[in-house]
Amino acid sequence: MTANILLKVSGLKVAYGGIQAVKGVDFEVAQGELVSLIGANGAGKSTTLKAVTGLQPVAAGDIEYMGKSIKGQGAWDLVKQGLVMVPEGRGTFTRMTITENLQMGAYIRSDKKGIEDDIDKVFAIFPRLKERRLQLAGTMSGGEQQMLAMGRALMTQPKVLLLDEPSMGLSPIMVDKIFEVVNDIHKQGVTILLVEQNASRALQIANRGYVMESGLVTMTGEGKTLLDDPKVRAAYLGE
Ligand code: ATP
Repeated sequence: MTANILLKVSGLKVAYGGIQAVKGVDFEVAQGELVSLIGANGAGKSTTLKAVTGLQPVAAGDIEYMGKSIKGQGAWDLVKQGLVMVPEGRGTFTRMTITENLQMGAYIRSDKKGIEDDIDKVFAIFPRLKERRLQLAGTMSGGEQQMLAMGRALMTQPKVLLLDEPSMGLSPIMVDKIFEVVNDIHKQGVTILLVEQNASRALQIANRGYVMESGLVTMTGEGKTLLDDPKVRAAYLGE
């Protein structure tokens, strides 16, 4: 039986003007998987996510989602189809409360009861957000804003959640919390593509991983296998 591939990227190339940031990348994510994309600064990970989610034009190659090409579709159409990214830097609505931010995440939905239930589910995942539900997002810590951005994405009921560097700039305790939650969300059945510079943590919770270097995928394998690989350990785990 072949796995149900939700996302399939083939020969993806993305350029910024004359600079080729992604030079022909192939990867896939099956339903229910947590796949981590790791690599150094500037390897092209964020650019890959932006191209997949319609935020950056594709120069060559194809992106298939649920068996159909989505190349050229805008981010908004893709969110409606369940392909949802939490961008690096979070992007919460700073002058709205936590609850209002979560409600904004549900703006494509009209099932009032379902929305209320999902806000409760987000509060169960992130009790900190519940405690502070009337606080303005802009006054929260970086870790809390990351939680809010993830919660807001969950309100869209994603089929695939793409996370760009969720642990970036957070304190060690908050990093632990974020990886724990990503793992929990995955266990609850959400398919996840995780971009991270924290290779060790990202591979620990991943079913599979891809290593990117200078715009290309250079290695792939099960999370655990990559974690034990001497080349990965030397290049990305500081050994
Ligand atoms: P990081 O972890 O630093 O975000 P990354 O692996 O996600 O790294 P990208 O952000 O995708 O890498 O960057 C890949 C390359 O594209 C880099 O050389 C970067 O300088 C370049 N780049 C990224 N965004 C732009 C942009 N808006 N304009 C021009 N070049 C860009």
